[in-house]
Amino acid sequence: AAGCQASGSLEIKRRLELVLSAAGKQADVDVVPVGCMGLCGHGPLVRLEPTGKVFERVTPADAEELVAALDQGSCNVQQCNLNHPFFTRQYPIVLRHSGRINPERIEDYIAAGGYRMLYHVIHDLTPAEVIQMITRSGLRGRGGAGYPTGLKWATVAKSPGERKFVICNADEGDPGAFMDRSVLESDPHLVLEGMAIAAYAVGAEQGFIYVRGEYPLAIERLQKAIVQARRLGLLGAQIFESGFNFRVDIRVGAGAFVCGEETALIASIEGRRGQPRPRPPYPAESGLWGMPTLINNVETFANISAIIEHGPEWFRQIGTEQSKGTKVFALTGKIRNTGLIEVPMGITLREIVEDIGDGTPDGTPVKAVQTGGPSGGCIPASLFDTPVDYESLAAVGSIMGSGGMVVMDEHTNMVDVARFYMEFCKDESCGKCIPCRVGTVQLFNLLTKLRNGQAGESDLQTIEALCELMRETSLCGLGQSAPNPVLSTLHYFRHEYEQLIGAEV
Ligand code: SF4
Repeated sequence: AAGCQASGSLEIKRRLELVLSAAGKQADVDVVPVGCMGLCGHGPLVRLEPTGKVFERVTPADAEELVAALDQGSCNVQQCNLNHPFFTRQYPIVLRHSGRINPERIEDYIAAGGYRMLYHVIHDLTPAEVIQMITRSGLRGRGGAGYPTGLKWATVAKSPGERKFVICNADEGDPGAFMDRSVLESDPHLVLEGMAIAAYAVGAEQGFIYVRGEYPLAIERLQKAIVQARRLGLLGAQIFESGFNFRVDIRVGAGAFVCGEETALIASIEGRRGQPRPRPPYPAESGLWGMPTLINNVETFANISAIIEHGPEWFRQIGTEQSKGTKVFALTGKIRNTGLIEVPMGITLREIVEDIGDGTPDGTPVKAVQTGGPSGGCIPASLFDTPVDYESLAAVGSIMGSGGMVVMDEHTNMVDVARFYMEFCKDESCGKCIPCRVGTVQLFNLLTKLRNGQAGESDLQTIEALCELMRETSLCGLGQSAPNPVLSTLHYFRHEYEQLIGAEV
């Protein structure tokens, strides 16, 4: 995936091929590029099959050693501890093929059971039965809000419309988040199959994947995947020679964070400026070109084929009462095991940070984690026994969000954190409504004033009042939730704000 490519994995592959060729083994050993194996902080990773041994922080100079290890069974390259909680505490559903199959070969996906569930759905189930399975599973939208997926599908299915559309929202933009990018880079067919099953269920014949332009590898792999699936009759007209048609096209976004908001995303696909509009009507009733439109996030679609295969009851037994299944997180910041993880809902923040993440790199105590990006909040270490589910995270002033999880240690100043996210929202505000357009600038200026030690007690009160105002009166989720990082840090780390009052630096 892109992270490993950035740290030289393509050169390692080239070098391995050269060494194999020089040893006359090129016909016996394949060097297969795969997607994300998860442990980004230790990459690039190389797995040797059939032993399953994984080597970490591999460099091109390790190629000879690795090729020799094929015969000798061992080598001096650092081996990954697969018994570490980083691996053993995970529950891969969405990521089950990631790092195992070649994302550029549809044959690999099919060999792993891919497109079987699409075939099964089209031939053996009615659209209503599919929706019933998704509803029964308890799957909730993984884009952040957690709306019940089955309910959304049912609304689109029953909404009248000449045409219907399915959109995959891949406009991931939270700082520190790379879940959707990794899934698309590692297993694009999984998302396409989920979209096709959704299209069959709601009665759509056209789909769009709205993916941000900053994800060139994801776009390239999606393009290849769509072409391959069309060639084999798995997308397009008469899928599996049935009467079901489903065409998918990619729309590349220009990197505006607000286009992750569904009505702005629709406007962007329609060729208009990407700005939100008031809801209702919701896209499920009146979306793309005024037609009923199903919008789900990448991870939501990536869960679908597993639910169909193993059944809704299987999915329901993973997770908590209100939050079923697993969640993919991008674990970043001051943490030893930076990477992509998939964990059952209900796992605690402590288990993620201390067991899976293995604490901070230099042993400095962890101070907080930030979940949900600019719409989320900072949760202090004292609340790390909070289970990771939609309701529990909201109860402590944050949100599940799409899956960004940034770990901060004791050296992190929480006013700086709040200011960072506010600067992000200020830059990304689309400017359509005044509370957000002006409020983000004013809040950023006040936080800067505070950071410079030039603020008084009344400025703190203004910050709080502005946060409340923006929450209540902004048009879309960006403005409504932009105050969250400020409010949560004020709530849990107020002393850090107060220390800066009148403390000119
Ligand atoms: Fe645009 Fe912000 Fe208003 Fe949303 S809240 S419509 S991003 S100005």
